[in-house]
Parts: sequence; structure tokens; C-alpha cells
Amino acid sequence: MRIEEDVKLDFKDVLIRPKRSTLASRKEVDIKREYKFKWSGKTYTGVPIIAANMDGVGTMDMARAFAAQGDGLTAALHKHYDLDTLVKYYENEGNANVWYSMGVSSADEEKLNAFLKTPAATKLDKVCIDVANGYSEVFADFLKKMRDKLPEATIMAGNVVTGEMVEELILCGADIVKVGIGPGSVCTTRRMTGVGYPQLSAIIECADAAHGLSGLVCSDGGCTVPGDLSKAFGAGADFVMLGGMLAGHDTAEASVIEENGKKYITFYGMSSSTAMNKHSGGVAEYRASEGKTVKIPYKGELAHTLQDIRGGIRSACTYVGAKSLKELSKRTTFVRVTQQINNVFGEAS
Ligand code: 5GP
Repeated sequence: MRIEEDVKLDFKDVLIRPKRSTLASRKEVDIKREYKFKWSGKTYTGVPIIAANMDGVGTMDMARAFAAQGDGLTAALHKHYDLDTLVKYYENEGNANVWYSMGVSSADEEKLNAFLKTPAATKLDKVCIDVANGYSEVFADFLKKMRDKLPEATIMAGNVVTGEMVEELILCGADIVKVGIGPGSVCTTRRMTGVGYPQLSAIIECADAAHGLSGLVCSDGGCTVPGDLSKAFGAGADFVMLGGMLAGHDTAEASVIEENGKKYITFYGMSSSTAMNKHSGGVAEYRASEGKTVKIPYKGELAHTLQDIRGGIRSACTYVGAKSLKELSKRTTFVRVTQQINNVFGEAS
């Protein structure tokens, strides 16, 4: 047994220190990024925020709403769309705003093989391969196999939280490594297993490892307010993936529940018993559920939330004098705080 004594930080443990700035208005800030991916050689320009591949978040309606925004937001479609629905989507609506998501099971592989036999195959340009624990050899081997099979696709793979594993996944063919174990809003991994890593430190360490190999990282999980995205980008994240913050909107492809005049939507982790009952016929005996099910207030139109998120990031850039999102991490100094008191009063409801 060993104890690592270095302090590891979460979003809540820091604030971004303001800096002298020549920017007159947040309108001047460009929050798009441009990347050329290491393995696929493809380029991307856009606001680097990705909807998580979760039921109610990584939906085709989310991708459509993103397409309507026209600024390069993308959605990782959840893994449970059937083949026909996926093929139709790619054929009719294209690939610009979507990631094809898969796990490493034989069923996932068979579905991908079937997809590759359809005319939509030529549109498969972005693939998200993820498992709860990206540390297994099986996962790295699977990733190598997919890199050989899909040489021109941009592959995002995860999840891991440490530099050495980021390097390994990049060398196995990942263009982007997804970083985060345990920070998710409906995740119970830390409680159930005691395993995890504070997200801000995970981003800082993983981004450093990835950038050294011309790879990229996507911070996945733990953002609860727009300021958390600014902290993630400030820490070096190239992309940020959001679940809970994008859940509960008109894009959820879920029914809205009305109770006592208030509207709600059910949101659940993809390893929760709700998800396993829905998609895998129950929780297998050898595993415990590592996700929870919550009822969240219905938030209506997605556009309002997106405006808040973009506005928050722009404003953070203005506070530190970053003319573009690209400059944010260079201009970020985090200050450690013991407690963040944002306001004395709660929000008016
Ligand atoms: P959020 O933005 O809601 O904080 O985090 C979203 C992320 O939580 C997802 O992208 C995924 O990595 C993770 N996640 C989703 N469902 C589950 C689950 O059931 N268990 C665990 N451990 N993580 C989950």
C-alpha cells in the first residue's frame, strides 16, 4: 500500500484568478477551437462541447438542436439506437454533429460491422469507444483493432484519469482520450467502489500527457455550472463532455412527468439499474449498479442553457484577458479555496 501525498483538486476546490485584460467586451471572445487529429488527420472547428452518450442526453434530437446552433457542438449518440435508426440518421442528416458510440462487447462490434456494410458507412467519421474502466488490456487491444479497422475515423476513447494510461490509449490509436472516473452527476462509482480521481487534477495531468504526444483530452463528468466548464478548459481540456447539465430539456426524447403543477424528467446513469433493466434485461448478478436515477425539473428549450454556458465561458475568458478559448489555459491561474460561497440567497423559483 502507498499513499500519494500530493493534493488533488476538484472543480469546487478552485477559482480562476482575474487578470488585467485589454478586452472591452465578452463579444470579442472566440470560443471555438480548431484541432487537427493525430491519427485520423481530420480537422475540427467548433465550440468543443460534447453531449454525453447517455439516454436523454446523447440523443438525435440533441444533435439536431446542436446542428441548428451552427457552431460545431457535437453529441455522442447513446449506444442503444438500433442499426436502422442510426443508418437513417447518418444518411438523411449527415455526420457533422454526431459521434457513433460503442462499448467493447461482441454485440457492439457486430452492430458496427453491420453499420459498415450499409451505404451510411462512408459517413462514419467520429467514433466514441468507452467503458467505465479504461484501464483493462482488453480495452487497449480493442482500441488498436478499431484504429486498424477505421483508419480515417476520429476516435475518442476512455475513460481514464492518469497520464500513463492516456499515453497508452493515444499510442493505441485514440485521437482524444476521455478523462473522468467517478465525477458524474448520476454516477455512484466513488461510493460503490472507493475508486476515482478529483476531476480538475485529472484534467491537468492527463492534458499534459496527451499534448506531449499530439493527442487531445475530453473532460467527462462533474460539470454542474458554466464556471466548471471554464475551469475544465482552463486546466487544459480540449473538449468537455456534459451529461447532467444538458439533461432534462426538450431534446431528451423522454416523457415529461407532471406532478403538482411542476414538470420533471427522469434522468439516470448508464450503469444504473434503470438503464440495465431497460437495455440489458436487468442487473447482472456479478455486478452492482454504479449509477443512480433522479427526477430533475424539466428545463424546456435547450437553447437557453446553451446560451448560459457559452456566456459563462466567454465571460471567464474576459476576466483573464483571453481573446479566445485557446488562450484560456495559458492565462489561467487557479486559486485554491476552502469553500465557495456564491451567493447568500438561493435562486428565486
Ligand atoms: P455529468 O456531466 O452528468 O456530471 O457526467 C456525465 C458522465 O457521467 C458521462 O459522460 C459518463 O462518463 C458518466 N456516467 C454516466 N452514467 C454513469 C453511470 O451510471 N455510472 C458511472 N460511474 N458514470 C456514469
